[in-house]
Amino acid sequence: MADSAYDCLVIGSGPGGYVAAIRAAQLGMKTAVVEKDQVGGRCLNYACIPAKAVLRVADVLAEIRDAGEFGIKVGEPEVDYGAVSDRRRKVVSTLTGGVSGLFKKNAIELIEGEAALAGEGKVSVAGQVIEATTILLATGSVKRPIPGTQFGGRVIGTEEAWALEELPRTMAVVGAGASGAEIASAYARLGVEVLLLEALDRVLPTEDADISKLAERGLKKQGMKIHTSTLVENVKSGDDSVGFSYGGESGQADWLVIAAGRGPDVEALGLEAAGVKLGEQGLIEVDGALRTGAAGIYAIGDLVPGPALAHKASDEGVIAVEDAAGLQTHPIEYIDIPRATFCTPNVASFGLTEAQAKEQGYDVAVGKLQYGAVGAGTVYGDRTGMIKIVGDKKYGELLGGHIVGSKATELIQELVNAKALEGGYPEVARTIHGHPTLSEGVMEAARAADGWLIHG
Ligand SMILES: Cc1cc2nc3c(=O)[nH]c(=O)nc-3n(C[C@H](O)[C@H](O)[C@H](O)COP(=O)(O)OP(=O)(O)OC[C@H]3O[C@@H](n4cnc5c(N)ncnc54)[C@H](O)[C@@H]3O)c2cc1C
Repeated sequence: MADSAYDCLVIGSGPGGYVAAIRAAQLGMKTAVVEKDQVGGRCLNYACIPAKAVLRVADVLAEIRDAGEFGIKVGEPEVDYGAVSDRRRKVVSTLTGGVSGLFKKNAIELIEGEAALAGEGKVSVAGQVIEATTILLATGSVKRPIPGTQFGGRVIGTEEAWALEELPRTMAVVGAGASGAEIASAYARLGVEVLLLEALDRVLPTEDADISKLAERGLKKQGMKIHTSTLVENVKSGDDSVGFSYGGESGQADWLVIAAGRGPDVEALGLEAAGVKLGEQGLIEVDGALRTGAAGIYAIGDLVPGPALAHKASDEGVIAVEDAAGLQTHPIEYIDIPRATFCTPNVASFGLTEAQAKEQGYDVAVGKLQYGAVGAGTVYGDRTGMIKIVGDKKYGELLGGHIVGSKATELIQELVNAKALEGGYPEVARTIHGHPTLSEGVMEAARAADGWLIHG
């Protein structure tokens, strides 16, 4: 006998789980969410949101330092890191409070505790058995160390890096992907001596090569040291610092942050007994509607393949519960999900890089535009950013968009939307844009791809 019963039971309240729960409730399902820690999941409490709150502080500080260029005289600004941490906590609590409010508004019950699958549509939480027609697994991911190291002492993960209560003097960051680049860029601008180490041959190694080059140049300007094609080994954590070796050199830092990989949080779930299969890299195997092989059980977000991003988790959550409700859904085009890195310079992309498009045999059109070519770049003080469009000459299809520079993470959406609405680069080239805006640069990059760049 179950202690309670729901149409939809969501395990995990991150951006995957909470959005899915709200959509399920909208569709008339009696819905509950089980959470073992804090409402809002890792994204709101420890990852995306605290990261962006601290990055924003670094941005404000950099703007104050650059004020002289705009004719404003200011003294040397002072960072009160205690107040920075207070603001970070406030941002988090405002947003997580918002999620709790949405649960109430949608009559979603929050069940506190760790959930495990108990077979045949049942889930156990702290000795209680809950029955549900649909069970949605949304338990996210946990940090993983690099080979030969373990977390503890002065060796921390990315979530801990954003939660430091004091600014350290030195920091080594292992991994120059999105998370590592964000941490390095924030702390370097806040005055920390940062060493950024990457095993592959460039920073942001999954981005288009042109973008990586400009991003690396921008990161170096913030005073950090960057070593690529470099493995970190012999990590030894002491009381106040950590020692390590990298590419034949030895290093020491107050903190070593490992930003080089995560794995799905599945240990407590009892997947095997419930018939849920794990595939590549230990991720849960699902079909285009996020169904696992086990009847009535769906999985989304960082638990399943695809980019580990909050908005991907949310979209999967919507698809999963809509499928459970009997609505028609469409599988996600994973390659076209926007990818955003909030370091300075800002980086964002979607779709194929130029190299990938060529490898796949497209007749590739490339349009590039430097921010300095449009009025807004000069007006707002970023002439070095770049927009790159990768297209297929055959039908003018947008294959990829790549932006490095101010507001890249906002600007990318125009290209994502154009593609979603079946527009190509010739259509973007002929869409009127407001003046003077950086988005005119997107239009000009599309014109460049179409062979009629005006400003350049
Ligand atoms: C430092 C950092 C910064 C990031 N920044 C961004 C960003 O800017 N933009 C972006 O799109 N993505 C970002 N990401 C990735 C993003 O955080 C994840 O993709 C996203 O959180 C995945 O959402 P989710 O709902 O799958 O899981 P999560 O957010 O991980 O939430 C899962 C929840 O499930 C709970 N849970 C786990 N097991 C159980 C159980 N057995 N019972 C009950 N509850 C359980 C956990 O406590 C957790 O609250 C970042 C990641 C990191 C680490």
